[in-house]
Amino acid sequence: MTYPNEAELLAKVPGQLFIGGEWIDGADEPFAVNDPSTGKALKHIANANPEQGIQALDAAVAAQEDFARMAPRERGEILRRAFDILQERRDEMALIMTLEMGKPLAEAQGEVTYGGEFLRWFSEEAVRVHGRYGTQPEGTGRMIVSKHPVGPAFLITPWNFPLAMATRKIAPAIAAGCTSVVKPASLTPLTTLYFVKILEEAGLPKGVVNVITTRSTAAVSSPIIADPRLRKISFTGSTGVGQGLMKEATKNVLRTSMELGGNAPFVVFEDADLDKAVEGVIAAKFRNIGQACTAANRILVHTDVADEFARRVTQKVASFKIGRGTEEGVIIGPLVEDKAVDKVASLVDSAVAAGAELLHGGKRVEGDGSFYEPTVLNRTPASSEIFREEIFGPVLSITTFSDEEEAIRLANDTEYGLVSYVFTEDLKRGQRLIDRIETGMMGLNIGVLSNAAAPFGGVKMSGIGREGGFEGIEEYLYTKYTLTPNPYA
Ligand code: NAD
Repeated sequence: MTYPNEAELLAKVPGQLFIGGEWIDGADEPFAVNDPSTGKALKHIANANPEQGIQALDAAVAAQEDFARMAPRERGEILRRAFDILQERRDEMALIMTLEMGKPLAEAQGEVTYGGEFLRWFSEEAVRVHGRYGTQPEGTGRMIVSKHPVGPAFLITPWNFPLAMATRKIAPAIAAGCTSVVKPASLTPLTTLYFVKILEEAGLPKGVVNVITTRSTAAVSSPIIADPRLRKISFTGSTGVGQGLMKEATKNVLRTSMELGGNAPFVVFEDADLDKAVEGVIAAKFRNIGQACTAANRILVHTDVADEFARRVTQKVASFKIGRGTEEGVIIGPLVEDKAVDKVASLVDSAVAAGAELLHGGKRVEGDGSFYEPTVLNRTPASSEIFREEIFGPVLSITTFSDEEEAIRLANDTEYGLVSYVFTEDLKRGQRLIDRIETGMMGLNIGVLSNAAAPFGGVKMSGIGREGGFEGIEEYLYTKYTLTPNPYA
């Protein structure tokens, strides 16, 4: 694969706000977007102030009525064209993600595929928004149930999957006929800015999607959320920030979709196929350098197989190449910033102090960039902090259990419920676990399950709502019931 020259590519990424179909400068001092593998600035971009946030909402409000009336097929075709353009630019998009976020290029390519599929899926869903018509049970009036775009939406995305988290919201909003203001994470805004250029080329009308980048996140976001013209907020990020946004959303009783944190259990029973389980845990843990809400966080392994499982996993992890995501064969790129390295280091140190056995890694990598060694811990006590907290780094921590009841109790011993992984060759046990683990998603004998055609989302403090699948578009629609009199009366 030949990637474009980095400097030339970065020069092509817009560094401005996108409001009402125009690229405009930010009112505040531009801010730097850094390469986490070097700590150096890649580009300086527009820094919106609160008035510009409201200007973006003005544009979304102005475009809403016409966009809601646009033929669903036309909206679908815009998404489909955006999908095609994204495929043509896949190397460019992958490189932008690797530069600003750090993930290895092979994974960034995977995200272009995954993120792009939301465009294709919702291009197909745009024409499948149905209602129903029926006679009242008494045989009198006729009931019409119809679906309508909920209205201007505020879409806030995190840094860890800069493309997919954006397309997973923007595509269903467009398909449903909603306009939006999009606020990408300030660590990784370049991907969204480049993607919006693609939407523009695909023929998206002015004002339908508006993008604001800012360092004054709360000051810019709060007035938008408080504005009675906004009808919906969809957020992906940490549970703490999501809770704050939910409080703000109560003022105007906004429709909310919340994709929040996780603390996924990865349960390996004594009857599991260990080769499959090892392969599964490597994918579920080290994808995105461990910085995924779906990352396996607590590896629960039956005592009979724990040491063998740990040995095989450690052997694999020891072979991982660490480096800048652009280098051939790199598995472990940098974490997104130094603060993330500090957090991971502190979790590992406290786990070891609590009695976990360090089998591999356990240190930050000295030198430039925000690197932490891929790490394996065995026999981590369930009482340790690392068992409670989302690690968000390349640390695989194993805790043992001795029977199915204990495995279920440990798996559910968290306030989160996004995703769970279960490895067993016993079909009945697998079915029991589907029933009893409190989770929005489950991988049964598989370590990666996200797909545009499936409903992604959690229970408990992992969130509200679903993205993708048939469910994804519903988040942007409201249901209206109309009654007309009996035509024969
Ligand atoms: P974060 O909560 O710090 O930030 C997410 C977004 O919210 C960013 O755009 C940020 O600028 C913005 N934000 C922060 N404070 C805000 C405020 N007061 N008002 C408005 N916006 C605000 O999360 P992060 O560090 O970017 O992402 C990591 C977190 O996201 C992890 O907890 C991870 O589990 C979660 N996540 C969840 C999913 C999911 O689908 N459930 C997917 C990816 C990431």
